[in-house]
Amino acid sequence: MTWHKFPLSTQLELLEKGETDSLSLTKALLERIKEKDPQIKAFIKVTEEEALKAAEEADRSRKEGEKRPLLGLPLAIKDNICTRGIPTTCASRILANFVPPFDATVITKLKAAGAVILGKTNLDEFAMGSSTENSAFFPTKNPWDFSRVPGGSSGGSAAAVAAGFCAGALGSDTGGSIRQPASFCGVVGLKPTYGRVSRYGLVAFASSLDQIGPITRTVKDAALLLQYLAGPDPKDSTSAPKEVPDYLSALKMDLRGKKIGLPKEYFGEGLEEEVRLKIEEALKVFKEELGLEIREISLPHTPYAVATYYIIAPAEASSNLARYDGVKYGLRVEAQDLIAMYKKTRSQGFGPEVKRRIMIGTYALSAGYYDAYYKKASQVRTLIVRDFMEAFKEVDFIVGPVAPSPAFKIGERVDDPLKMYLSDIYTISVNLAGIVGLSLPCGFSGQGLPIGIQIMGPHFSEPEVLALGHQFEEILKLYERYPEI
Ligand code: GLN
Repeated sequence: MTWHKFPLSTQLELLEKGETDSLSLTKALLERIKEKDPQIKAFIKVTEEEALKAAEEADRSRKEGEKRPLLGLPLAIKDNICTRGIPTTCASRILANFVPPFDATVITKLKAAGAVILGKTNLDEFAMGSSTENSAFFPTKNPWDFSRVPGGSSGGSAAAVAAGFCAGALGSDTGGSIRQPASFCGVVGLKPTYGRVSRYGLVAFASSLDQIGPITRTVKDAALLLQYLAGPDPKDSTSAPKEVPDYLSALKMDLRGKKIGLPKEYFGEGLEEEVRLKIEEALKVFKEELGLEIREISLPHTPYAVATYYIIAPAEASSNLARYDGVKYGLRVEAQDLIAMYKKTRSQGFGPEVKRRIMIGTYALSAGYYDAYYKKASQVRTLIVRDFMEAFKEVDFIVGPVAPSPAFKIGERVDDPLKMYLSDIYTISVNLAGIVGLSLPCGFSGQGLPIGIQIMGPHFSEPEVLALGHQFEEILKLYERYPEI
């Protein structure tokens, strides 16, 4: 059977009807990974043994009449999410041998729901990047075109779903790292509201921005996974004490007459024509087939978002990454004294982009510069939040591109950090404001590369955003298209 072509919800249905079992499904996917991943390199580690054991266990539970919601479903996990007893490297030399003694809350939840973990996926080191080329181990390739990047930083997870190694994966999104790779790989990626999903056990990059979310083939599957990822967690004080709505039944809600805002700042210079055209076609569907109203809006502080992010995120990162000092865990390079040990460990353990961020962040937080940079950036962040709050008084959704272009070539932007940073121009504001951002396929370029569209909604508007995404995907059915690999 062509297992790899089925979305999660179909896999689940087949398991529930007894038309297959988790062991056959897991084996088939592991086979495919063995055969095809050497070309794509989505996985840092495939946890074959653990996966087979979990699958058998799932089949046993099902036979005994257990009804866990994700029972037997194989998923992949970005390698910056802690998995007990399984290395969690963040694609960094400094954590290359780190085996967490605990599971992240999302992992505990997925296991409780019955999911099977297939392995850990590649990323830009510590999730810093937009192409997965900053992985200390190897770059991942885009399944649609091996000469191109899968996006980043959750490039391994997006490539794994696109290649049919699994129908669902977890990513993390600090400035676009779920949505941009989803868009480059032709899959769906959801950045939930800040606080909707526990960050406990997600290796911290920029704690006021980081959020875990699903990467899937369909919006419906994103809703299915979010259902079991979301919720308050006593181990994460920033998780929201808010009940989790029923995302799946919300998919059918009536959206006729709702308003979509198009921020004029998202359609200006820098946006590739092909992307603009596909977004315009999608807007027609929203309007003519789904009955939504469309109007132009303005998010006037958008031009400052990238600069603001590249102060706040590195500032938080420089503080978060101070813990990798060779003392308690991770790499240690021995030296004659403590200071020399710190220096050697950190110089050899971190890659160039991580060092760049630590330097920018340390500078922005240092005495004399704090007011000029960090404080200023925090103030501009407030203005960006207000832009959204004002806009959401007028409209229910904001729609725009995910990235200015489809997937770019491997190597094309590695030597130009600024150009790399600009690939996040349409995703970063969502993190700064803590709102919902969903990326889903809306078409293909002339060269056959996927193009994504982004639906943004206010805090905790996941039910509405997912509903709009789902109703759209059911008209275009782009999830039926697969890369030939
Ligand atoms: N590309 C952005 C960065 O390099 C965002 C990364 C992310 O969301 N983790 O910081």
